[in-house]
Amino acid sequence: MMSSNQVLCCSGHDPTGGAGIQADVEAVAARGAHALTLVTALTVQDTHNVQASESVPAHWLQRQVDCLLADCTVDAIKIGLLGSAEQLPVIANLLTRCRVPTVMDPILRAGGGRDLPASDFRDAVIRALFPLCTLLTPNAAEARRWTGETDLDAAGRALIAFGAENVLITGGDEQDCAVLNRWYRREGPIRVFEMPRLSGSFHGAGCSLAATIAARLALGELMAAALEQAQQDVHRMLQAARAVGCGRALPRRILPPAGA
Ligand code: PLP
Repeated sequence: MMSSNQVLCCSGHDPTGGAGIQADVEAVAARGAHALTLVTALTVQDTHNVQASESVPAHWLQRQVDCLLADCTVDAIKIGLLGSAEQLPVIANLLTRCRVPTVMDPILRAGGGRDLPASDFRDAVIRALFPLCTLLTPNAAEARRWTGETDLDAAGRALIAFGAENVLITGGDEQDCAVLNRWYRREGPIRVFEMPRLSGSFHGAGCSLAATIAARLALGELMAAALEQAQQDVHRMLQAARAVGCGRALPRRILPPAGA
């Protein structure tokens, strides 16, 4: 019998293992779910920044989608870095065929400062994908760049107006003493989650959060519980972060068993 906890992750490859597809696989596995993977792009990067990225051809992605969907069930989808505008119809087709909870981390710029390809096709992404997403998880800087709004509440409302069902704007990149993560939805008041701010800077925190939420939704949790729990999960991953290179620390998503 096929399991009902399969998360299809569409992300780029990051050779450091901090972000992208490896972050997704580890975060999903840590929740006891299984990651199916579609690699959208290859990158050259270290723990400081992304140096280059190369898109996987759209026809190749389409073949991967067709092959996988003919064989496997998909219970949730996580979308991270997209390689090119040509990939958008493939991903939109995937979302339409699966109709499962879909979490998109709408990346525009790496934490190290390099623009990732999505900035070139902002409007096309908004039109093709945002209305098919259950949840968007931009950080504050991304929320402002996608919408052109400075105020985060205005940005959250604008992202909902683009068609997403829920938006979680994370505040790790803001200057507040605590990390304030804001949840916007089509109906219902704004809810603000407050997390203690950890010192240091991290590479792959956003990917870890989006993939953890997707795993929790695949396992049948309601959005409120998935958001609440996933933020706690990621806080623990960041508390246990390790320095793999000389740049930012990587979240430790697979934690040793208690007492080990
Ligand atoms: N590389 C890949 C493949 C990514 O998906 C991302 C972000 O999602 C990054 C790099 C940048 O990650 P960060 O901003 O955490 O450094």
